[in-house]
Amino acid sequence: MCLENMYFNPSNISTFVIFVQPSKYGMASQRPIRTTQNVQTVSPLGENPAQIMCPKCHQTVLSEVEYSSGLFTYLFCGGLFLFVFGCCLIPFCVDRLKDAKHTCPTCKTVLGVYRRL
Ligand SMILES: [Zn+2]
Repeated sequence: MCLENMYFNPSNISTFVIFVQPSKYGMASQRPIRTTQNVQTVSPLGENPAQIMCPKCHQTVLSEVEYSSGLFTYLFCGGLFLFVFGCCLIPFCVDRLKDAKHTCPTCKTVLGVYRRL
């Protein structure tokens, strides 16, 4: 009798789900940008240098961007290989198809990585 009541009580189930979800998705953000003190909300980093507050030297700097081949570059290479044989290495020469790593010009701290995928 008592066991049946617990099993079919919908409020028990919903509180359990609400309790579990935030801890699972709350840590999903991997960006090392800390929003402390009165730092204004940092806009998501793009492929171009951006004004950003360095968390290490606490200065607003224009980030240095370093391009590296990412998943998108390899996928683009694969796509070109299927359609235009011989041109599949072009993506590795084009910065616009690569991931952009933002670093602080002063202390060389990695401020964030813009991934295309
Ligand atoms: Zn710095």
